[in-house]
Amino acid sequence: MKFIPYGRQEISREDIDAVVVVLKSDYLTQGPAIESFERAVCLEAGSGHAIAVCNGTAALHLACMAAGLQSGDLAVTSAITFVASANCARYVGADVWFADIDPETLTMSPLSCRRLLEKAQSEKRPVKVVVTVDFAGHPCDMQAFAQLKKEFGFVWIQDACHSIGATWEDSQGIRWKVGEWPAPDMTVLSFHPVKHITTGEGGMVMTHDDGLAHRLRQLRTHGITRDPAEFMNKAEAFAADGSANPWYYEMQQLGFNYRMTDIQAALGESQLHRLTAGIVRRREIVAAYEARLGGHPHIAFPKAAEGVWHAYHLAVALIDFDSAGKSRATVMNHLREAGIGTQVHYIPVPLMPYYKDPVCVAEFTQSQAYYRRALSLPCFPQLTDADIARVCSVLEVALA
Ligand SMILES: *Cc1c(COP(=O)(O)O)cnc(C)c1O
Repeated sequence: MKFIPYGRQEISREDIDAVVVVLKSDYLTQGPAIESFERAVCLEAGSGHAIAVCNGTAALHLACMAAGLQSGDLAVTSAITFVASANCARYVGADVWFADIDPETLTMSPLSCRRLLEKAQSEKRPVKVVVTVDFAGHPCDMQAFAQLKKEFGFVWIQDACHSIGATWEDSQGIRWKVGEWPAPDMTVLSFHPVKHITTGEGGMVMTHDDGLAHRLRQLRTHGITRDPAEFMNKAEAFAADGSANPWYYEMQQLGFNYRMTDIQAALGESQLHRLTAGIVRRREIVAAYEARLGGHPHIAFPKAAEGVWHAYHLAVALIDFDSAGKSRATVMNHLREAGIGTQVHYIPVPLMPYYKDPVCVAEFTQSQAYYRRALSLPCFPQLTDADIARVCSVLEVALA
C-alpha cells in the first residue's frame, strides 16, 4: 500500500531535461536562467518585476528591508500562518502584532487588523508594515486591505506563498491575478516542494515599483552594484578619462547572499508551465472531498469569498473532534497507520513560546477556534480519484 502524503512535488521528464541543460551550460548561479524565470513569472502573474531568491523566508526578509522596516517599528501579520510571515519582521528588529482571521475564508480579518492599526496609532507607534497571508491559496480581502493602506499608510507585503495562480474579482467585476494588482507593494512567493511550483528551495518578490525592485536586487547580492551610473565614490570608480575602472564594484548597503541558482530557476520555469493545470486538479480534489464529506455530521469546509478562484495549496477540513468524541491525535494516528499523511496548518503563531513575550499583542479568538478543528487532507495534482476515496473512507472510519 503506497503512502499518501498531505502534499508533494511533481517532477516531469521536461523538468529534468531543463535542469540538465543548465548543468551543461556555463552558468550555475544567477545566469540567464534566473532572468528567464523572473520574466516568465512576471508574465504569468502580470507583475512588473520579479526578484528570485533562495527561499520564501529570504524573500520576506528582503521585502521587510526594502520597506524600510527597522528596529522598534511595528509590523502586523495573521495569527494563522507559517512562522516566516512574522519572523521576517523580527529579523530587522521590528515588533510583531498578530491579527485574527476571518472564520469563513481563514485569511487575515481586515476588522481585526484595523483594531490593531488604531491601537498602535493611539500608542504613537504606527504600523510600518502589514504582511497579509493568502491562506491555503485564498487571496486575502484585497480591497479591504487596500482601503486600510490608504487610511494608515503602511507598506503592504502580500505573503502569496500559497496563492500563486489564484484570481479574484474587484467590486467593478474586474478579475485580477495574484501579483497583478499593484495595491500590495510587494508580493512574496515560495517554491518549497509542497508549494504549487518548486525549485527545491526558492522564493521570489514581485513588485510594480521600480525603486523597490532596484533595492531588492541590490539586497539580494550583498548590497553591491556594478552599474557605473550608480557609483557614488567617483574617485575610486572612474579613470582619468572618465571610463569606469574594470575591477570596480560598490557596496552601498548591507545586503545578503540570497541568490537562487540557475539550476533551480530552470526547474521553476519548467514547472510554471503546469501551474494552472495543477490548480485545476487541486480544485477537483477539494470538490471531491466536499462532495463526499460535506454532509458528514462532524466535518465542514471553509468557504471561498465570492469572485475568488481559490488555488488550494491546502485542502483544509474543519473537523469537530469534540462532538465526534475523538481526539485529533487519535484521528491523525489512525490515518497515518492506514498510510495517509495529514497536517495541521497552522498552530497560531502567537502560541509559539518565542512570541509569548507580553509586549506581543495578539487578537486570535477565531484563530484558536479554527486551530482546534483544522486538519489538512492530502492535496497535490497526482492524487488519484481512488486515493481521494481511500482518504475519505479512512477518515469516516477514524471518526466513527
Ligand atoms: C512556505 C511559506 C513561507 C516560507 O517559505 P520558504 O520557502 O519555506 O522559506 C512563508 N509563508 C508561508 C505562508 C508559507 O507557506
